[in-house]
Amino acid sequence: MSARLVLLGPPGAGKGTQAARLSDRLGIPAISTGDIFRANVAEQTELGKRAQRYMDAGEYVPDEVTNAMVRDRLAQPDAADGFLLDGYPRTADQVDELEGMLSADGQRLHAVVELTADTDEVVTRLLKRAEEQGRPDDTEVVIRRRLEVYAEQTAPLAATYAARGLLVQVDGIGGLDEVTERIMTALAPHLN
Ligand code: AMP
Repeated sequence: MSARLVLLGPPGAGKGTQAARLSDRLGIPAISTGDIFRANVAEQTELGKRAQRYMDAGEYVPDEVTNAMVRDRLAQPDAADGFLLDGYPRTADQVDELEGMLSADGQRLHAVVELTADTDEVVTRLLKRAEEQGRPDDTEVVIRRRLEVYAEQTAPLAATYAARGLLVQVDGIGGLDEVTERIMTALAPHLN
């Protein structure tokens, strides 16, 4: 299926997990900017070296770095017929950049799914993930900063996409299957 989708939501809302499931269901690649950055940090590439200090502090990597990386990724053949972006766009500038990348190819987004979850729930989930996975940015201080940055810079994008008729809001609290079904149901009217 050709679908061009964005997954929005605070850290800990379950975007990565749901992105993998939706990718399977819809037959489109899930593209996580956080995963691409982490892979580059692990390999200590130039991109990884530029991104690491921002990530470790819970800040966003500068737009020009992130936008160039996404532009390259979306130009890969597997993204030609659709994609699910997990963790991008996160700033107003990234929204504009994405729009530009797509419209240059005569493409558009089909929908933006916002996974909602309250702050106490996401902090609990992230602290649990810290124990299980040991992600360096899952310490309590950095988690709080990531949530602040999300509230300041990314949460407002929901209104931007709502104004464009693209926003689909889904409650991210519940069993994994239940949340996946909620998303699929909410997306259905947008997928044609
Ligand atoms: P995530 O795995 O999506 O939580 O992303 C982990 C970290 O990678 C974020 O806290 C940022 O430092 C960085 N990052 C991921 N996506 C973006 C983005 N779209 N813009 C800026 N920084 C990003």
